[in-house]
Amino acid sequence: MRVTVIGAGSIGLCSALALAAEGASVQVVDSGVPGTGASSHNAGWVVPSMSAPVPAPGVMAKSLRWMLKPDSPLYIHPSPNPQFAAFMLRMLRNCTPSRFESGLKNLMALNERTFGLFDELERSGLRFENHRSGLVQLFRTQKSLDSHIDEMTQVRDLGGDDFEVLAREQVGDAIAGLSDSILGGIVCPRERFLDPAAFTASLITACTDLGVEFVDGTEVSLSQDGSGRVVATGNGYTTTADHFVVAAGAWSGKAVRGLGYTLPLQAGKGYGFDVPSMFPPGTRASYLSEAKVAVTPLAASTRLAGTMGFGGLDERIHARRANGILTSAADYFDNWVAPTGAVAWTGLRPMTPDGMPIIGALPAHPTVTVATGHAMLGITLGPVTGDLVAGSVFGRPVPGYADPFRLERFGRSALRR
Ligand SMILES: Cc1cc2nc3c(=O)[nH]c(=O)nc-3n(C[C@H](O)[C@H](O)[C@H](O)COP(=O)(O)OP(=O)(O)OC[C@H]3O[C@@H](n4cnc5c(N)ncnc54)[C@H](O)[C@@H]3O)c2cc1C
Repeated sequence: MRVTVIGAGSIGLCSALALAAEGASVQVVDSGVPGTGASSHNAGWVVPSMSAPVPAPGVMAKSLRWMLKPDSPLYIHPSPNPQFAAFMLRMLRNCTPSRFESGLKNLMALNERTFGLFDELERSGLRFENHRSGLVQLFRTQKSLDSHIDEMTQVRDLGGDDFEVLAREQVGDAIAGLSDSILGGIVCPRERFLDPAAFTASLITACTDLGVEFVDGTEVSLSQDGSGRVVATGNGYTTTADHFVVAAGAWSGKAVRGLGYTLPLQAGKGYGFDVPSMFPPGTRASYLSEAKVAVTPLAASTRLAGTMGFGGLDERIHARRANGILTSAADYFDNWVAPTGAVAWTGLRPMTPDGMPIIGALPAHPTVTVATGHAMLGITLGPVTGDLVAGSVFGRPVPGYADPFRLERFGRSALRR
């Protein structure tokens, strides 16, 4: 079985590894350098308990309110593209309590094997910086704490992990240097965090060891040739394959447009900074809840990441927006001084209007499997997606828990015209 994977992020690499492990002959084509996009520029959290879909009750109203604030953590930059407006409208329709709960259930079921699959990767020889110290969400307002307790209770009642609510003094024991304005926290003890660049690098090494071939700097898209075969072409490159896997992140829609599909996908732009280590080894990752900033204490640096911006496939760095992350940290940590010369990075998350990924074969093209739309969970859901992609390529029946992630759920608007 010859398989071409388009995109070498967490999803494409986990898919390539699962396919090669089952004996497929795999080529991975990436428009840039494999493993260096959003999949290495993120907070690195492996967090099944944060399975809540992005479209949640109240989210759209909040982002509209914040629209005029140039350093807000959540914003929509309106685009004249009709697909953008249709996406936003659809997302709005998914912000009801019942749709939120159904998305949460589906994502929790998808996440059920997450920790086990990460353990399997490590057992099979992958080496990457991986921390099992859990994470703590920090709160400055009672309203925000109460609403997160409600959400975590919902997760627990649906079969998720238990959590612990900490008073101010207990939070101070867990994280050094916290500001007096923190009034409490929530600990998720089982959650993990890793160095995402080390994770993608270890996936590339493992793939290469199994004979996977990488083609860098080659942007491709799919179309059908005169005899009806699917071909990938671009930058002077052309290939056929027994099966294609489209894992091109926020660009996946472009890659399948030539086959007649309109994927309901938009980019959710995030920013981050790597600053000198702020915490002793063993410190939990923390979430600055009101500011929506993730703080990841890696061995060599501390990573601050956040912001969700809808504004198309735009990878430019807007300094004011990015700096909002550094500024907000001062509200949570005593004596915080934003490091001079910290360089912002950005990453585009692949977002769907219902907050759930698209995983499965294209309805009219059974030899093309799409795996994208992982939003804020593309590291967390990498291994399980790789497993499902391998199942799709080798023609195994779709397991029940994966059924809600088919493209067909979007009806005719996404399907072949
Ligand atoms: C600030 C921030 C924080 C985050 N924190 C977390 C977190 O803590 N935990 C978590 O689980 N997730 C997190 N995420 C989300 C996660 O990073 C994404 O969901 C994930 O990177 C998506 O992976 P992907 O492989 O689908 O896409 P990408 O990582 O974007 O990879 C897609 C690849 O496809 C290539 N490509 C694009 N178009 C083409 C083409 N036409 N031909 C060939 N190649 C192409 C690109 O070059 C790229 O390498 C975060 C994201 C951001 C931005």
